[in-house]
Amino acid sequence: MNAKHTFVNLFLKTRSKQECHEVLSKWNSYYAALSEKHQQSFVVRTLLFLNTTDFDATEGFELTTEMKLVISSAFVQITFGLKQDVLSVFKTIFVTPTSYAYTGRDVLYDGDVNTVTKRVNLSWPAVEKGFVITDDGLNIAIHEFSHCLIIENAKGFYFSKAFKDADLNAWKELATKKIPLIREGKYTIFRDYGGTNLMELFAIALETFFEQPHEFYSYSPTFYRTTAKVLKQDPRNGKNPK
Ligand SMILES: [Zn+2]
Repeated sequence: MNAKHTFVNLFLKTRSKQECHEVLSKWNSYYAALSEKHQQSFVVRTLLFLNTTDFDATEGFELTTEMKLVISSAFVQITFGLKQDVLSVFKTIFVTPTSYAYTGRDVLYDGDVNTVTKRVNLSWPAVEKGFVITDDGLNIAIHEFSHCLIIENAKGFYFSKAFKDADLNAWKELATKKIPLIREGKYTIFRDYGGTNLMELFAIALETFFEQPHEFYSYSPTFYRTTAKVLKQDPRNGKNPK
């Protein structure tokens, strides 16, 4: 735990930490695999994120503390190796009980990052599925938070950038070469949607990185290592990823 988190830890109730530990042990396989020392730090980061983020939900939908903890844990998982521990711009997470559509559009969403309202929208059934099925490379909460980090990183909203420029540039250079291959069906570790653009590929690469780290590494050790460098962690080492 760094100095900030050691300090934050002093203000957290033992009961809240215990509840967080129980929820994450049940829901988040990344958390469950961590060493005790890392779990303690993860709990502090999760409660810090939860306490500094506004959670809101569709009228009539009961958003429980358990749901908020699960959603927060996705952000903590991605940023566990980084200094950045909260979001600066996307301070509101809006949770819906089903997939949703924007007025006047036919498309149904399970999650999106709205740069106008500065909200992260997530449908709870999709979040739930993302965590219950741990190894299919699909996790909507990880996906949307990856977008938030890239957007905030590009605009330098956090007091320091989440990612090192050199590391992210190396990632982008490699990813740019993969996009045409993904589109042609010649690079199959990521789902097809990864071929859309760099923004989507980053989110999908992170879903794969956390849900299928060994497969990702076997398929492309270089791309895997480049991603691990950006995030400063390696989830193949379940107990000690950083
Ligand atoms: Zn996306």
